[in-house]
Parts: sequence; C-alpha cells; structure tokens
Amino acid sequence: MTRVAIIGAGPSGMAQLRAFQSAQARGAEIPEMVCFEKQSDWGGQWNYTWHTGLDEHGEPVHSSMYRYLWSNGPKECLEFADYTFDEHFGRPIGSYPPREVLWDYIKGRVEKANVRQYVRFNTAVRFVSFDETTRLFTVTVQDYEKDRIYTEQFDYVVVASGHFSTPKIPEFPGFEHFGGRILHAHDFRDALEFKDKNVLIVGSSYSAEDIGSQCYKYGAKNIISCYRTAPMGYKWPENWSERPQLTHVDQTHAYFKDGSSTAVDAIILCTGYLHHFPFLEESLRLKTNNILYPLNLYQGVVWEQNPQLFYLGMQDQWYSFNMFDAQAWYARDVMLGRIQLPNLEEMQADTQVWHEQEQTLEDVHAMYKFQGDYIMRLIEQTDYPTFDIEGVRKTFMAWKQHKKENIMTFRDHTYRSLMTGTMAAPHHTTWLQALDDSLEAYLQELAPVQQKVG
Ligand code: FAD
Ligand code: NAP
Repeated sequence: MTRVAIIGAGPSGMAQLRAFQSAQARGAEIPEMVCFEKQSDWGGQWNYTWHTGLDEHGEPVHSSMYRYLWSNGPKECLEFADYTFDEHFGRPIGSYPPREVLWDYIKGRVEKANVRQYVRFNTAVRFVSFDETTRLFTVTVQDYEKDRIYTEQFDYVVVASGHFSTPKIPEFPGFEHFGGRILHAHDFRDALEFKDKNVLIVGSSYSAEDIGSQCYKYGAKNIISCYRTAPMGYKWPENWSERPQLTHVDQTHAYFKDGSSTAVDAIILCTGYLHHFPFLEESLRLKTNNILYPLNLYQGVVWEQNPQLFYLGMQDQWYSFNMFDAQAWYARDVMLGRIQLPNLEEMQADTQVWHEQEQTLEDVHAMYKFQGDYIMRLIEQTDYPTFDIEGVRKTFMAWKQHKKENIMTFRDHTYRSLMTGTMAAPHHTTWLQALDDSLEAYLQELAPVQQKVG
C-alpha cells in the first residue's frame, strides 16, 4: 500500500489529513497516512505553551504564540470553505478571536473528520532521506512516549513543520553588556513582565506591531520601536515612538541611526524567523526567506527536484488556513494521480514566472491579490469548495484601513463571512479592555459594548 508521511500536525498537517479523509468520504481509495507530531497535541502554533527554550523532551519549543494573543487579521479571511465558523460555534462571534477560540475552531473540523487516529504524538522526525533506486523515503523518528528511535519507509513525504518557530537573531554592538533582558519574539510569553518598563522593539512587521501593542495594553511605561527598512507608520499612542534602525546599546541606553538615544529596560527582537529543516537531507531541503512565492516549489507545493516531496504553508501568509487547505487538496490530488505534473523544466519555468511577478508587487493590496490568485489557481484544480476570494481581498483592504484609522481599536470591527454571509457579532468587550482571552470569557453572552461594522 502507498504510504504518506506528514511531518507536523499544525493547521497545514491537519489540512492534509482532512483532504485525504474528504476524498475517502467520497469513495476514493487513499494511501496509508502517518502524521508525526513532536508535541503532545495538535494545532501547531495555536497550541500554546508556557515553555521557552526546550520543551519537556528537550526539543526546541515550537510555538511562538503568547498569552493574550488574538487573531491579527479578520477571521473571515481565514475561514475554511468546508467548515464554517457558524457550523462550529452555532452563532455569530467576533471577527478577531483570541488564540484559544481559533484553536478550538481548527480542532473542531478534524475532530469531526475523525483523523486524530493517524497522528503519532510526542514523536519528532529526526531525519528523512530518499533512495533513488527504490524511490522510497526513509523517515527516522524519536518516539518520546516509548523512548524509542525507529525508521519507516514512505512513498511520499509532506513537510508541514511550519516556518515561524526558529528565531532569526541579529546581533547589535553592546548586547553582551546590556543591563536588562534581551529576548526574541519567539520567547515572549506575556506582556505583564514589561509593566512599567521602557521596552525597545526591534523590527517593523506583525510581531513588532502586536508585541508592542501587548506591552501598551498591559501597562509598559514606554514603547520604542525601530525599523531597518520602513516604519510601520501607524498613529501610535503617546508613549510609543518609532525610530530608525538600532545602531548599538550600552548598559542602559539604546542608540539609533538618526543619532538619538533612549533609556531602555528590555529589548524584544521581533526580527522574524528562519525556514529551518534540520531533519531533511540536503537534496530535499527548501531554502528561502519569508516571501509569497519561493523558488523550487511547483504551484507553491511540489518539490520540483523530487515530486514525491511536498511542502505546505511555506509562504509568507496573508491568507492562512484556507491557503493551507488549497495546498493540501492539491498535494493530495497529485498523490492520488488525479493531477499530472509537467516535466522539471516546465515546472521551473512556471515557478519562475510567479516568483518574478512577486518582485513587481508594489503595495499590500497587490500582495493580497497575488496570494488570492494563487489560491484560486490551486482550488480550480481540485474539488475544494470554491469561495468568494475577491470578497476576502476586500475584507483585507477594510482591515488595513481600520488599522490605519486606529491601531488600538481595529480589532473591534466586524465583517461578513464570505462562506455563509453571516455578519460577525461585535464582541462584548473592546480589545483594549478585554484582559481575559479564555474561550469561556470570549464566548460569554454579554451585551456588546460597542459596534464597529466593517
Ligand atoms: P505550525 O503551526 O508552525 O505547525 C507545525 C507543526 O509541526 C507543529 O505542531 C510542530 O510541533 C510540528 N513539527 C515541527 N517540526 C517537527 C518535527 N521535526 N517532527 C515532528 N513534528 C514537527 N496566522 C493567522 O492566520 N492568524 C494569526 O493571528 C496568526 N498569528 C500568529 C502569531 C504568531 C506569533 C505566529 C508565529 C504565527 C501566527 N500566524 C497567524 C501564522 C501561523 O503560523 C499559521 O496560522 C499556522 O499556525 C501555520 O500552520 P503550519 O501547520 O504550517 O505550521
Ligand atoms: P516577519 O513578518 O518575517 O518580519 C520580520 C521583521 O524583522 C521585519 O520587519 C524585518 O525588517 C525585521 N528584521 C529582520 N532582521 C532585522 C535586523 N537585522 N534588524 C532590524 N530588523 C530586522 O516576522 P514576524 O513579524 O515575526 O511575523 C511572523 C508571522 O507571525 C506573521 O505571519 C504574522 O502575521 C504572525 N504574527 C501574528 C500575530 C498576531 O497578532 N496574531 C503576532 C505576531 C506575529 P525588514 O522589513 O527590514 O526586512
């Protein structure tokens, strides 16, 4: 029997399990699936841990999420086409749910599909190699429950191990003598420890924006963020200033490219992540930075040099869950022989066109459209339910506008589902006031305090 190894049971790996189960439910014969997950539960980044550094097994902690993290984009932009928020929650909820609420939603679909049986938890993939003669992969794993290292063979491998886990850590002169704490966003767990402190945020993307906002929300004295390329440019609260790149620090102060300096108690490096696959042999290893269309992946999914290998979710992500779905359905159909791949040269030429097109995108609106077009291209080739991607793009545009209006209140807006047409219900508490991010608190039925219809 054909065997498929799926590495990781985060949203991408879960999408692959669901894709095969969906084909089986429609009468297809599917391969034997084994999903290896190094953590004790599924959900990937959404499976919060208080650990930093190494986990209880000595594995690098995977999740970079923190307490009090809420969705940073409207949930209407990541809704599954085959499992809606209405189906899961049975009533409209807000547009920017906290982490635990979204985790519950992702789990709901795969629990319904009954695919947990295919996941081997507490099992870390150590090494994957490919034999040109047998055309099989050898996958070596470590099972922490049984304290056993073993090897199995597979016809296909799907890498769904994520790429926002291994921190990219720059070094600035003076760091070794700085008197306060220096950490990467990956190790940030909650903002309470920075209450009443002067916090320096290095970076100008989503982690910088949200970790800075968390520090503001939970009472930091001052937030100073600095950028290498371009400022985030939002209207910040009074105690948040944006400066050009950090040049160096001494024991108490940070110094910036414009000659200014300021006293800081802690430095948080929101400087992004590395694509890191230490468990893949060299010929199988994707090497890319965080972009929308990496080279070497046909249709963003198939490893061109060896089309028995697939990668899911390796792009920078505007669309997330529904992009992973589109990719998983596509990979599934290649493995089921429903989609025939062109030869290597044709695959490379196709990828080159998309990769080059990405270089021409001038603003975020063009990026939303580019990734939306990419997703639609995948969906048109499979039986994944099609949806109003243009509507999603418009929701992204409204999101961007709401952030521009007020970075501290954009999460109070609501949007209409592109899957069901249901209008989200305003949350009972504004984001700035909502200090309890638990599922129970979020789903409590209280009268909404404010309504902002997007
Ligand atoms: P991951 O979620 O990273 O899952 C990968 C899985 O692979 C993990 O379970 C991991 O344990 C497992 N794994 C890794 N290596 C191995 C190995 N060697 N052996 C076995 N298992 C392994 N997206 C949004 O849409 N909205 C948001 O608000 C949002 N917020 C985010 C906040 C932060 C701080 C970060 C870092 C990301 C956020 N994202 C958000 C993006 C997020 O990465 C995706 O939503 C999604 O989790 C990606 O799914 P994935 O399955 O590809 O990867
Ligand atoms: P990212 O989007 O890859 O951004 C990395 C940032 O680091 C960029 O601003 C980059 O600046 C900067 N940088 C890199 N090296 C630097 C250096 N040497 N000096 C100064 N700056 C440097 O990574 P991210 O912001 O961590 O986001 C990762 C993912 O997490 C995204 O999908 C995001 O949506 C998600 N996220 C979500 C939330 C939430 O609220 N739900 C919170 C955090 C993160 P340049 O522009 O100069 O390259």
